[in-house]
Amino acid sequence: MSEKLTLIVCPYCGVGCRLYIKSVDGYPVGIEYATDLDGIPNEKGKLCPKANAVIEYLTSRDRLRKPLKAVEEGKFREISWKEAIKEVSERLLEIKKQYGPDAVMFFGSARTFNEPNYLIQKLARVYGTNNVDHCARLCHSATVAGLKAVFGAGAMTNTYRDIAMADCIIVWGHNYAETHPVGFRYVLKAKDRGAKLIVVDPRRTRTAWFADIHLQLYPGTDIALANAMIHVIIKENLYDKEFVAKRTVGFDDLVKTVEKYTPEYAEKITGVPASLIREAARMFARAEKGVITWCMGLTQHTCGTDNVRLLATLAAICGHVGREGTGCSPMRGQNNVQGACDLGVLPNVFPGYKSVTASENIEYFKKHWGVDYLSDKPGYTIIESSYAIEEGKVKAYYIMGENPVISDANSNHVVKALKKLEFLVVQDIFLTETAQFADIVLPAAALPENEGSLTNTERRVQWSFKAVEPPGEARPDWWIITEIAKAMGYEKQFPYTSVEEITLEIARVVPQYGGMTPERLKNNIAGIHWPCPSPDHPGTPILYKDKFLTPDGKAHLAAVEHRPPAEQPDDEYPFILTTVRVVGMYHTNTMTGRSPSLKKRWPEPYLEIHPDDAEKLGIKTGDKVKIITRRGEYVCKAKVTMTIKPGVVAVPWHWGANVLTNDALDPISKIPETKVCACKIIRLEG
Ligand code: SF4
Repeated sequence: MSEKLTLIVCPYCGVGCRLYIKSVDGYPVGIEYATDLDGIPNEKGKLCPKANAVIEYLTSRDRLRKPLKAVEEGKFREISWKEAIKEVSERLLEIKKQYGPDAVMFFGSARTFNEPNYLIQKLARVYGTNNVDHCARLCHSATVAGLKAVFGAGAMTNTYRDIAMADCIIVWGHNYAETHPVGFRYVLKAKDRGAKLIVVDPRRTRTAWFADIHLQLYPGTDIALANAMIHVIIKENLYDKEFVAKRTVGFDDLVKTVEKYTPEYAEKITGVPASLIREAARMFARAEKGVITWCMGLTQHTCGTDNVRLLATLAAICGHVGREGTGCSPMRGQNNVQGACDLGVLPNVFPGYKSVTASENIEYFKKHWGVDYLSDKPGYTIIESSYAIEEGKVKAYYIMGENPVISDANSNHVVKALKKLEFLVVQDIFLTETAQFADIVLPAAALPENEGSLTNTERRVQWSFKAVEPPGEARPDWWIITEIAKAMGYEKQFPYTSVEEITLEIARVVPQYGGMTPERLKNNIAGIHWPCPSPDHPGTPILYKDKFLTPDGKAHLAAVEHRPPAEQPDDEYPFILTTVRVVGMYHTNTMTGRSPSLKKRWPEPYLEIHPDDAEKLGIKTGDKVKIITRRGEYVCKAKVTMTIKPGVVAVPWHWGANVLTNDALDPISKIPETKVCACKIIRLEG
């Protein structure tokens, strides 16, 4: 009997915790905490409930073991890999011949390694289209666009350790304690040192329990709140004058714009008492070291990009960026969403955030990839592509490791669109709700059955080692894409025989990853922060120490006006609905939903409703209620709670509540407004 411990990166969230998989004779039997490792994201090897249950999804009987071909919708027969690869490659080539390359949309996955993500966007581009996207579109595309506009790059500016060193932390639209529990330990470490915590959230979350100040705003009023805080900081001369003068542009416009945003004016919009707005503004501006961290409560709005621009502006005018213990820390949802963005799984940029419309970038990738043509037309984003199906412009989807039927806003529309496709390929580890509509299903190896690099939310690139064999005939994502590309005639562009060859190509092609060789990553267990341009470069934990990455090296402050969400409550739909997450469930529940221990503790969705609203509707905790919006209906139990504001209700989205949400888009980042819509509630039974 051979027992082995193998170090992996957690397959769940963007904190990127390390853990060991324990295997006996190649079969996974448990996990061990990485208590022996220094410098890893999870100090002392701490893990949250999801990672503790990793073995349960890995060994689930539901795992896909053979390629499948649909015989009718939702019914499949097993086929060989040879047949699957032939069918996929031939159908994609036929569609290209008949409709052109822009008739196909490719989906990368924030749940898999950098290497297959690099390959899926390369396949799309070699095929002739920029129609490639992934779920960053739904969570932090507003962060990427907003931070890029202000600082020049769309990524976290600092590390977890800077959060622990801060004197004041603002956690904005982010239930940190539940969504990134191990990351939240750095906030608690700062609190133990005496740091102040300001939480901005419509709900009194577990994170808000720890707050010195809780700003309980109405969903979708973040700009008014941030403008009022900036108003106070400027009026009371609390801003960092030297930093503003030397390192920013746009301050005069900012002063003019925030003039009218007195705390009293903002109170009318946000519902937050003016006195608390003043207190929070003073607390953050007076801190020696300040950090702002945020998540989807800030980004999933039609004004998501402007929300992010304003928080970056707030940090900048206080001089809270580019130093130890300061910075802007968007917390990425999935373990490799940062990497998928970095490697160009986006419709407007090649790897390394190089615009697809710039001729020098096209020439650069033509040379590196050995192709004569690359499209300079930005592709569809996820939500746009589902409307393009309706318009007859998109005919096929190739989805790697995504589940839009559960994850996308207005998901009834997504289902309607999927049914109209001529060809749908889904590559995944389970037969997801989306895979049910597929023509071909390709069984993929799960993260611990595979190896490669992943980039966590701090831009820290870590190597995850192969712990166990995949079940049945499941194969690594990089292998599947390589075989399909070869069958399509792209042997020259896809010559790979190992994952390391792809990592080396990334290092050659993507300047930020220039020094990230497989050997170096395997030896540096704590990982390396990009940018790391050469093998002798130590990596860059803190960005912008001397200058920003904008063309003039300055931070471009944002001056933006509050604008209301796309959908407002009215007589017919009187409540504001927002969506939330719970600590034990992850994303579309594809993995956590197959974990018996997690399901036992977090068995079902619920609607949070304030006692005043519940009384008016005759609702008690445990009653079955129907939530209705202009797009769909959803039934779950009620949870009457003081933690939510009157007039606002909340439901976790893991179980399919996106049938309710609004897919109105932020015009810049194209993120849908999942965090606010209007709804009505009906009590069904006691
Ligand atoms: S906090 Fe995130 S990365 Fe860490 S164990 Fe939990 S899910 Fe995994």
